Amino acid sequence: MFDVIVSGAGPSGSKCAEILARNGFKVALIEKDINWRKPGGGGLSVRLFKYYPQLRSLNLHKKHTMKMYSADFHKLEYKYKGFEDYSVVMDRLELDNLMREVAVDAGAELFDKNLSFDFITKNQKKIGIKTKISSGSKEYFGKVIIIADGMSSKLAIKSGLRKRWKTEDLGISKCAILEGQNSMDINTVYFFYKPFYGYGWIFPIDEKRFNIGVITFYEDNYNYNLNKLYNDFFKEPKVKELLFKSDYKQIWMSSFPLPGTGVLEKSLYGNNLMIVGDAAGFTSPISGEGLHACVVSGKVAAETAINAFEIGDFSEKTLKKYKFNANIKKIIRNFKLKRSLADFFYEKEGSNLNTIFKLAENDLKFRKTVTDIFLFNATPPKDFFSRI
Ligand SMILES: Cc1cc2nc3c(=O)[nH]c(=O)nc-3n(C[C@H](O)[C@H](O)[C@H](O)COP(=O)(O)OP(=O)(O)OC[C@H]3O[C@@H](n4cnc5c(N)ncnc54)[C@H](O)[C@@H]3O)c2cc1C
Repeated sequence: MFDVIVSGAGPSGSKCAEILARNGFKVALIEKDINWRKPGGGGLSVRLFKYYPQLRSLNLHKKHTMKMYSADFHKLEYKYKGFEDYSVVMDRLELDNLMREVAVDAGAELFDKNLSFDFITKNQKKIGIKTKISSGSKEYFGKVIIIADGMSSKLAIKSGLRKRWKTEDLGISKCAILEGQNSMDINTVYFFYKPFYGYGWIFPIDEKRFNIGVITFYEDNYNYNLNKLYNDFFKEPKVKELLFKSDYKQIWMSSFPLPGTGVLEKSLYGNNLMIVGDAAGFTSPISGEGLHACVVSGKVAAETAINAFEIGDFSEKTLKKYKFNANIKKIIRNFKLKRSLADFFYEKEGSNLNTIFKLAENDLKFRKTVTDIFLFNATPPKDFFSRI
C-alpha cells in the first residue's frame, strides 16, 4: 500500500513524486516507458532552474536572444537583458530522465513499463490503479492518486473529471531533432508565425544539432496538412538562410498533440484524486510552452496532498486547495489572457500579428510592450489594440 500513486513520470509527475517522497511519503511513480522521448521543442526557461538546480551544472548553451518573424517576415528580436535571464534547449529524453532520477533520489519508487489503464474502485471510492505490464497486469493501491500521464491520459477520462479533448481544442505538431551544418546562432531561438493559427520553430541544441517543428492550433488543425507544412517550412527563404543544406541527418522525429485551451479548471480534483500537467491543460495556449506550468502544478498538487495527510482528509473539500493556490490561479489567469490574445493576433489571416511586428520594428516603446505581452504575460495596455 502506497500513500500516493502518481501515474506518469513526466515533468509534472516526477516533480510531484519528488516532493512527496522528500517529505517522507511512500510514493509509486508509474511510467509506461522511460525510453520514450516525449515529442517537444525542449525549450525551457531559466525559471525552471528554481525547481531543478541540477540543470545549472549541465552547462547548456544559454539562449539570450529570441528572433520571431511574422507571417510576412517582419522581425521582432528580443535580447534578455540580465545575464541571468535566458532559456536553454534540451533533448526531452535527457530532461525527463533527469527529473525522474531526482524523484527516485528523493525516495519515490519508479515502476517502469507499466501502462496505467483503469482505477481500482471499492464502495465507489478509487483506491488504486491497474496497469498493464509485459506479463499481464498489476495493481497499485494508494490513499491519493495523482494523474500525471499527459495529454492522452486514460485515467483522466475514467476519473469522470474531464472529457476527451476535441481536435479543435488542441495544438497538433510535427517535430524532429536534426543534425548538420547550419548558420544559426547557438544562443538564439527562432519562431516563425503563420497566417493561420500556428507557427514553426527552430531551437539549436548544440553547434550541429537542432530541434525543429511546426504546429497548428484549433480549427486550423482541420485546414492544414502537417506533413506538408513541415516540408514547406524548410523551403521558406528565412529558414533556408539558416538551414542551407539539403540533407540533414534525422536523429528523431514525431508528431504529437498538446492541450490548447488552457487549464481545465473544473477538472483539477475529486475525492482523493488530482490531475496535473498536460493531462489537466497546463500548457500555454498558442505558445505551447508547458514545462514550467506543469512542474508548478505537480509541486502544488504534492503540497496539497501533504496537507491532506496532515489533516487526514482526502476528500475534494481538502484537495480543492490545489486549484485555489495562488500560483495555479496565476497560471489559469495568464493562459486565459493568452487564449483571448491568440484570437486577436491571428485575426484576418494573421494580419494583426504582421502589423504588430511591423510597428515594433521601428518603435522601441511599442516593442517593449509587445515583448512584455509575448514573453512575460503582461496585459496589453488600453491603447495597444487601437494602434493595430
Ligand atoms: C510538439 C511539442 C512541443 C513542445 N515544446 C515545448 C517547449 O519547447 N517548451 C515547453 O516548455 N513545453 C513544450 N511543450 C509542452 C510540454 O512538452 C508539456 O507541457 C509537458 O511535457 C507536460 O508534462 P507532463 O508531465 O504533464 O506530461 P508529459 O510530458 O506528457 O509526461 C507524461 C508521462 O506519462 C507517461 N505516460 C503516458 N501515458 C501513460 C500511462 N497510461 N501509464 C503510465 N505512464 C504513462 C509518459 O510516458 C510520460 O512520461 C511541447 C509539447 C509538444 C507536444
